Amino acid sequence: MSSESTTSNRQDATETTDNEPETAVEIARRQLEHAVGHVDIDPNVIERLKHPTKVQEVTVPIERDDGTVEVFTGYRAHHDSVRGPHKGGLRFHPEVTRDECVGLSMWMTWKCAVMDLPFGGAKGGIAVNPKELSSDEKERLTRRFTEEIRGVIGPMKDIPAPDMGTDQQTMAWLMDAYSMQEGETIPGVVTGKPPVIGGSKGREEAPGRSVAIITREALEYYDQPMAEATIAMQGFGSVAANAARLLEDWGATIVAVSDVNGAIYDPSGLETHDIPTHNEQPEAVTEQDVPHVLTNDELLELDVDVLVPAAVGNVLTEDNASDVSADLIVEGANGPTTSAGGEILADRGIPVIPDILANAGGVTVSYFEWLQDINRRAWSLERVNDELESEMVDAWTDVCEAHDAHDVTWRDAAYIVALLRIAEAHEARGLWP
Ligand code: NAD
Repeated sequence: MSSESTTSNRQDATETTDNEPETAVEIARRQLEHAVGHVDIDPNVIERLKHPTKVQEVTVPIERDDGTVEVFTGYRAHHDSVRGPHKGGLRFHPEVTRDECVGLSMWMTWKCAVMDLPFGGAKGGIAVNPKELSSDEKERLTRRFTEEIRGVIGPMKDIPAPDMGTDQQTMAWLMDAYSMQEGETIPGVVTGKPPVIGGSKGREEAPGRSVAIITREALEYYDQPMAEATIAMQGFGSVAANAARLLEDWGATIVAVSDVNGAIYDPSGLETHDIPTHNEQPEAVTEQDVPHVLTNDELLELDVDVLVPAAVGNVLTEDNASDVSADLIVEGANGPTTSAGGEILADRGIPVIPDILANAGGVTVSYFEWLQDINRRAWSLERVNDELESEMVDAWTDVCEAHDAHDVTWRDAAYIVALLRIAEAHEARGLWP
């Protein structure tokens, strides 16, 4: 494979280490500043993009099953809506903070723009451990939170989606609560709903499918035939399993997958359709009958053509980036590469295809869901997959052009595509009033 530009990654001029963890908003601002160095964009527009347009902080009291009242804090951050309504996930997690929501909302702005979707970024959540709530308590929490943020969401304002700790059922409750208060059924207020109330076919598989499509395009770019490619995939949840199975169907050899307990490795190739996913049977990966069981750290250092970290964030760091032996990395998870880890990989010439492109199939099919809701017409699975294929290839082509034209990393190339689109829209619309 040909080498990657040595431009530093997720990094500005200052030295970055993993010793002091950056907050999501710090990382998002750093990435913005780094990408800006490669393009000529009005600094006034960049200044606006460093800040959210609005952050709603709300108190969410609910009655627990034992009759006591508990009070939680929730947020909804809006970053930028110059290209359309805000779009982004809603998470229930004990570590949700205002800053995290702001940082993640900025990433959603770039992700939507790199895919050329008519949305801006948002993110929200409640600081709560959903595992400590009964289903009834979760429903009350979701409905009360929906009421608290009702003024800032809506199909033409801000469209939440599932994220950590939330799922199709949470979105169904949110849609119902919103619709009841508005006096009409409004499916377009959320995406990731069950198909029976306006959810899209293919939504669940979409992030993994997009990871597979982008891996295929990247292999082609580096003249690596799919039939000869070996791939190690960290994780075997929704993203990893869907990506692994598709790539195997397309002829690649998936040599390793993992879960939180460890990895399995077979140099002659795993039968990924026979391995239960995290959803089908949690933590069953290492129970499979295969030649080698490895640690997750060992999986990340395997000598393969493609490494796909598709489980959790911050796994490629300054501690292990020097030991990565893969020729190409495709980010399936959100934020699997730290700033310092990314810099080492860039210096070593190992291309890293960024998350905001590779796993953007999720938000892209969310966009399709929103279109289906507005038009009150469901698409077939075949249409969803065909349109996703075409959106992903278009986005890849745009990022490729920026990568080759500016001689930058793939991450910077994706940011350049996104930023130019957002800046152009800001310049065309101007500043109100
Ligand atoms: P999931 O819950 O379905 O699966 C997660 C997988 O990671 C499981 O196999 C689990 O065992 C494994 N895992 C958990 N902790 C681990 C650890 N410390 N080390 C190694 N493996 C570990 O999750 P998912 O939906 O597949 O999401 C994976 C990543 O992709 C996350 O970063 C998520 O934010 C991102 N992502 C998900 C979507 C989506 O819609 N599902 C969309 C875009 C990005």
